[in-house]
Amino acid sequence: MNIPPINLKAQFKGVKKDIMKGVREILDDQKLILGQYCLKLEEQVAAMTGVPHAISCANGTDALILSLMALGIGQGDEVITTPYTFFSSASSIALVGARPVFVDIQESDMNIDPGLIEKAITPQTKAIIVVHLFGKICDMKRIAAIGQKHNIPIVEDMAQSLGARRGNVSSGNFGDIAATSFYPTKNLGGIGEGGMVLTKREDLGEKVRKLRVHGMGEKPYIHEMIGFNSRLDEIKAMALSVKFLKLASWNKTRLETAGYYNMHLRDIPVTLPIIEDETSHIFHHYVLRTDKRDAFQAHLKENGIMTGIYYPVPLHLQPCFSYLGYNEGSFPNAEKAAKASLAIPIFPELKKTEKDYIIKAIRSFFESQVEEQPETEES
Ligand SMILES: *Cc1c(COP(=O)(O)O)cnc(C)c1O
Repeated sequence: MNIPPINLKAQFKGVKKDIMKGVREILDDQKLILGQYCLKLEEQVAAMTGVPHAISCANGTDALILSLMALGIGQGDEVITTPYTFFSSASSIALVGARPVFVDIQESDMNIDPGLIEKAITPQTKAIIVVHLFGKICDMKRIAAIGQKHNIPIVEDMAQSLGARRGNVSSGNFGDIAATSFYPTKNLGGIGEGGMVLTKREDLGEKVRKLRVHGMGEKPYIHEMIGFNSRLDEIKAMALSVKFLKLASWNKTRLETAGYYNMHLRDIPVTLPIIEDETSHIFHHYVLRTDKRDAFQAHLKENGIMTGIYYPVPLHLQPCFSYLGYNEGSFPNAEKAAKASLAIPIFPELKKTEKDYIIKAIRSFFESQVEEQPETEES
């Protein structure tokens, strides 16, 4: 068997007819940028999350940059975030001229450790970017309380958690402003780049709408602020709007697959992801942890199963961030996770036979390890 990490061709088959129809309509109309389909997508995401102001933009990184700009963050400011995430959770901070300040993750779910945030706060701290990593919502009760106590706004990086909920509250509602991504491999992935900013605060929403189009307000060619071009194309918004109708069922299928994996892997010596409840994790990635990660990955590859490492190098050890002065050892949990994590296929189109094959291949690796163990312990 050959199992890819994600199967976008299979996904496209289910939406192809509607998307092709939309492409023809848009090309006939020639309304190509920020038109009715962008508005429709914004309305769909606003309705699903319950966050009133949804502003589409060019990609998820821009959504983070727009969020930080709307909060007025720049030179001389510090922004706290996790070192164990995709690059742009931190590059966005540096790109607006501020300084990323990292706080280690907790071992349980690899999200930022709320217990360590307060120690990192200084008078320069102007925001906290939380990342709901792999689709699991952070401990927002504690983090929101810290933000309130110190009067520091919270930005949610929800590029991996669109549709995740804690009780009735969707990701996107837990902070002042939130950024998501429609990169093709995300849970709601487009036919190209795409992103969105979500906020409850009207003042921030208004600013983001202007910043997205060069800082222009109502009057054309009058620039109230220095914005940039981060518009979304109609064809891409239309495709997302079609795929959006499937998002809830895709997310549900991912959660069910995670439950299935957890049930069939619970007795082997590997750290499984936690499933706390039915909604707060949408399993953008299903990540196992083992100190034999590289051999484990090679074994799965030999069996035709493609996996991913998210993320091999934590951000505080990236060459471009050496000026921040962190070292190996600065964030032990993030470093440990980077060495131990392996994401196995969990895309919604995965068949039961493929899931069972994956489980069998995983079990066979750890069963062969158990036989070898006594020897290595003696030596
Ligand atoms: C994908 C991703 C981004 C960036 O989104 P792009 O659309 O690729 O710019 C930011 N943060 C996280 C956590 C992501 O997974």
